[in-house]
Amino acid sequence: MSGAPERRITDLPHLIDALPPEDRAVANRIFDVSSTTGRLVVPEAMHAWIEEFFGSVDAVLEQRIVRVTNSVTLQGTLFNGLRASRPLDTGVGVDLEREIEAGDARDPFCHPENDTPADVFGRVRGEHSITASNVAKYDGFHGVVVFDDHNPLRLTPEKVSDYVSVGLEWCRKALEADPEARYPFLMWNCLWRAGGSIIHGHAQVTVTRGMHYPKVERLRRAAVSYRAEGGSDYFDDLYRVHDSLGLGIPAERNVRVFASLTPVKEKELVVIGGSSEDSSLHRTVGALLRDYVRVLGVRAFNVAFYMVPLAPTEEDWSGFPTVVHLVDRGSPANRTSDIGAMELYAASVVASDPFRVADLLRRGSPG
Ligand SMILES: [Zn+2]
Repeated sequence: MSGAPERRITDLPHLIDALPPEDRAVANRIFDVSSTTGRLVVPEAMHAWIEEFFGSVDAVLEQRIVRVTNSVTLQGTLFNGLRASRPLDTGVGVDLEREIEAGDARDPFCHPENDTPADVFGRVRGEHSITASNVAKYDGFHGVVVFDDHNPLRLTPEKVSDYVSVGLEWCRKALEADPEARYPFLMWNCLWRAGGSIIHGHAQVTVTRGMHYPKVERLRRAAVSYRAEGGSDYFDDLYRVHDSLGLGIPAERNVRVFASLTPVKEKELVVIGGSSEDSSLHRTVGALLRDYVRVLGVRAFNVAFYMVPLAPTEEDWSGFPTVVHLVDRGSPANRTSDIGAMELYAASVVASDPFRVADLLRRGSPG
């Protein structure tokens, strides 16, 4: 990539225009992209404050905002890089490593066999993790994959692969216990910024009945409609657009990764694999999380696995891949939430540039 002009999300309309015609047609079929400029007038008395936080007054006078909407799923993002520099209430200073280590050996997940409940079908034990039953459940079956490592940031692809395999085995046990519990979901909330209530490393698994969780079902319906209208596979086309723009990230065989053009929040990565059982998919997610922490400096993150049902259902899941989402939830030292009414009810607002995220991950060293 060296020598190539740096691509920026603010140039997205031009980058799409410059694509070869077939790629451009697919990009325009999936994405609606527009840009606008926000302007303001700064009183003299504010100059020093603005210079401190934003570098210069000029930086805020005209702000380029790019809006990307996925017309297939109706998910969308507004990008304004300037928001990364805005002043935030950082609360009390946090020495994260110290805070993590201070709890070592003291929380229930440090001694899961004694201090956590088991599921009605028992526990699943892996090489680096063991399951527990969640005390206050999201759904009829709700388990925890408790990592042997207390420190959730001590990640390797092998360990993550084990966590995912153990989670999937838990889902199969739940299905044996209740043949209607066919719809699996695997998630990981790392640290409090990401919704994790216990620091000790853990992921969570649920299985649900009747229909998949609404956001998964919505994606299935969108992909079915897309194929019915244009004859092509939505996920192939989605990857093709990202890859043609330079947002693809190398991964193991049969796994496709890209930095999303419509991230739900900062630095979102999307991983598309085949079967949820595929160990190369698990290792890819592990390698990405390791680099998330090591290269991008992420500390609090969410991971979610969209997976097809574990047993046949009435609705059509043919061609639906395993889709994994990774997202950065911001600094654990920050007291301001990263989501507000805008994100909950309108569109995501994001400061990180997906082109920069993809570049850094491809390069593989801290930037
Ligand atoms: Zn612990």
